Amino acid sequence: MECKWCKNDATISDYREIDGITSKVHSCESCFGLSTDFLLARRDKEVLTSKLEIKGFVLGDVWHISDVQQNYDCTDDEAKDILNAALTSDVVMQTIFEQIDSQADHLKIKKK
Ligand SMILES: [Zn+2]
Repeated sequence: MECKWCKNDATISDYREIDGITSKVHSCESCFGLSTDFLLARRDKEVLTSKLEIKGFVLGDVWHISDVQQNYDCTDDEAKDILNAALTSDVVMQTIFEQIDSQADHLKIKKK
């Protein structure tokens, strides 16, 4: 049986509340210890990322407010503001463009 949250084999079962309904869920060892909110957010990320990649958007890693809130006691809006500021910072943008150049160079793709 496959883990409800990933492609691993399920080895453990527990009861989790999802959308107000509690049901038995089969998990792998690595997903078992994670919170339901985290697992649902991760699954949403995967669905949304694949939909955007079909349209040519490449997100790499998608950040979520839970990435901030796992370390800081803040509201959803504060977490969104923190993530937005971090992801659009000059240093991040510059690093991404440098990495695009580096990867294209590595693949011997000529610059326009
Ligand atoms: Zn799993």
